[in-house]
Amino acid sequence: MSRFWSPIVQTLTPYVPGEQPKITNLIKLNTNENPFGPSPRVLEAIKAETADTLRLYPDPNADRLKQTIAAYHGIAANEVFVGNGSDEVLAHVFMALLNHEKPLLFADITYSFYPTYCSLYGVKHRVVPLDENMRIRLADYDQECGAIIIANPNAPTGILLSTAEIELLLQAHPDVVVVVDEAYVDFGGETVIPLIKRYPNLLVIHTLSKSRSLAGLRVGFAVGHPELIEALDRVKNSFNSYPLDRLAIAGSVAAIEDESYFRRTCQGVIDTREKLVAGLNLLGFDVLPSAANFIFARHPQHDAATLAANLRAKAILVRHFKQERINQYLRISIGTDAECEALVDALQQIIAQ
Ligand SMILES: *Cc1c(COP(=O)(O)O)cnc(C)c1O
Repeated sequence: MSRFWSPIVQTLTPYVPGEQPKITNLIKLNTNENPFGPSPRVLEAIKAETADTLRLYPDPNADRLKQTIAAYHGIAANEVFVGNGSDEVLAHVFMALLNHEKPLLFADITYSFYPTYCSLYGVKHRVVPLDENMRIRLADYDQECGAIIIANPNAPTGILLSTAEIELLLQAHPDVVVVVDEAYVDFGGETVIPLIKRYPNLLVIHTLSKSRSLAGLRVGFAVGHPELIEALDRVKNSFNSYPLDRLAIAGSVAAIEDESYFRRTCQGVIDTREKLVAGLNLLGFDVLPSAANFIFARHPQHDAATLAANLRAKAILVRHFKQERINQYLRISIGTDAECEALVDALQQIIAQ
């Protein structure tokens, strides 16, 4: 606390990202990064862009990237907004579209940036508890609200709602914006982007950090009716006109164009996930059904914080959340086959002690 701080800063509880320690030979399964590197075509495109032209500002509208995303999803470029990671896109969404007289609804257990943005932008909100199976129960959203945001698959549970269920939610709330954060949808879900044609209140958020292996490049986007996109552009152009640099635009265009690499690596993550779940089940873990590149697991006889600490002592990082309802779970990112096997071996030793 400092007397020089703005009053709002004194009230903030910032988001805490998973740690990025500088330890060598670490098995890092704590921040949902992709174990596969980005497509080789991405690296070539970034190298080609590393030229004298870096002295020039990038295209403030990143038109090439918007056109690439639009062509990929069969929509128009004016239905796309791009930003410096989907966290930045989400920040603009909270300010431009989710701040109303009536409260924004989101789950008690979901991406923890949502409450953080509420405090930053003063967004009234009401938390809707997941049911006893850690699922979103749509009937619980049948209440007056100013907007809704859900992560699908949800984080950190990994549990997926079907497109039919999202459509029911949209039909029940035609007069408020419904945001669906699909950060993990490529690992077992189906995007609801095609629904934007019929639901002008639907905004879908994607990131290139997870399924496109580009967490370090910082690119995310939102897709929806041009009126929603215009609101985001108004905020962006009052904040930072050049959110995506030249390297990010070149690299993300190449990533979206390399469909075969994308499919192969997503399938690789899914295959490893299924093996990891089987291994953990054999050790007695309960694992929630995951459609993401992580799993959420607990052991009925072993305290999760202790397990996480014991893994850390073996140079394996997983994510543990202190929040009461989930403090007996571990969120484990899907690494390579070898990393996941090392994790199962380590857990077996820890549990046997
Ligand atoms: C990782 C993640 C994001 C943010 O990704 P960026 O790296 O900022 O693009 C957004 N939403 C959810 C649910 C996530 O897990």
